[in-house]
Amino acid sequence: MKKQQTYSYEELYEKNAKYLWNPFTQMKEYLADQPVIIERGEGRKLIDVQGREYWDGVSSVWLNVHGHRVPELDEAIREQLDKIAHSTLLGMANVPAVLLAEKLVQIAPPGLSKVFFSDSGAEAVEIALKIAFQYWRNLGRPEKDSFLTMKEAYHGDTVGAVSVGAIDMFHKMYAPLLFPSIKVPFPTLYRHPYELADEKQVVQRYLAEMEAVMAAQAHRIAALIVEPVQGAGGMIPMPKGYLKALRELCNQYDILLIVDEVATGFGRTGKMFACEHDGVTPDVMSVAKGITGGYLPIAATLATDRIYDAFYADYEEFKTLYHGHSYTGNQLGCAVALANLELFESRHLVEHVTKSADHLADQLNSLRELKHVGDIRQKGFMIGIELVADRTTKQAYPFAKRMGVKVARRCRELGMLLRPLGDVVVFMPPLASTIEELDSMVKILYQAIAEVT
Ligand code: PLP
Repeated sequence: MKKQQTYSYEELYEKNAKYLWNPFTQMKEYLADQPVIIERGEGRKLIDVQGREYWDGVSSVWLNVHGHRVPELDEAIREQLDKIAHSTLLGMANVPAVLLAEKLVQIAPPGLSKVFFSDSGAEAVEIALKIAFQYWRNLGRPEKDSFLTMKEAYHGDTVGAVSVGAIDMFHKMYAPLLFPSIKVPFPTLYRHPYELADEKQVVQRYLAEMEAVMAAQAHRIAALIVEPVQGAGGMIPMPKGYLKALRELCNQYDILLIVDEVATGFGRTGKMFACEHDGVTPDVMSVAKGITGGYLPIAATLATDRIYDAFYADYEEFKTLYHGHSYTGNQLGCAVALANLELFESRHLVEHVTKSADHLADQLNSLRELKHVGDIRQKGFMIGIELVADRTTKQAYPFAKRMGVKVARRCRELGMLLRPLGDVVVFMPPLASTIEELDSMVKILYQAIAEVT
């Protein structure tokens, strides 16, 4: 077998500059900043072509569960390769896709009974939107064709997912391409518009706003789509009980509930799915990221029997779900996802997150000593540290200061890779990180924030 040729950093940098257009990346800034070029991984670390080691502080954009080069996952792919790499799922099936669908139904909130595969989180959301839209058409209620979404939501970067998202920075540019959606505020306790000190009352006000919109417009709303922890919007967990209240409102007003668990699913928040914190079963749920442990691009949209039954008809009724990509249900991806979920069980990974989250919270508490740390938000291993110019007034830094970027740069020098969201420093360590590893990562965070702010 021909060995992969090795290249120097300079050669790879030059090829990157000449040929590769990186995603969500301003190339001018990236190329001016000595970009990291990763060569390999080992456990919770990434190693670049110059041999420098970094903690994978955001789990390679929120995917990585166990770490890198997990023998059981490597083996699952090898074993599957000995059989077949890919055949289509359009009009036929394959072994790992069937088994993975069964497994997902077993671990999902009760009542989610059917699995539709795809290749990315954004696609899993697109499918959820198409299912909800078509559900009402298939039932003869085409007037229910709009979506209720949250302000500052992020559901992916494809046109449908952007339409139900609301982060100006990512979405404004494409506004003329998008379909309109009805936006309601996400319940944010750190920054809320009400002159109220009591958190319970604040939550009630948010819910009242939601209910008012539903009461007025339910006749035209197909579904409400929510993230249980608003991710790219700033790592903001929904208050306890909020999702349950939304479930009840959706039932009351005959609106479907789509929960986007792309970021929160697979143990990230200390439950297998974040819906479980409130005992909620959505009508439709999108998952991706952690599903293969960060190995291959598999995603899925789960639905209840009530939804599936609205599509189950004679062909001539044209109730088929018209969606499916060439690589949907890829065998290598499904095989590694199955192996990943087995490891979740054998290593009691969700319990590990729950147990370690308290220790992590204690460690993160030390950051409150730093005067520009405004808020620390944590749900399991999903953490956002909001930096502010003035802690008393919660005054944000001027955009030009790029504090989040500066902290991430310093972390990189100190040996940890992060990707901030504005001035929110995102910390999403791999779920299998040990207490000692978490402590080392938090130490770097502390030093970087202390030095930069
Ligand atoms: N939904 C949520 C909540 C996300 O956080 C993301 C990505 O960060 C997506 C959807 C899109 O997932 P992907 O990047 O796999 O398309």
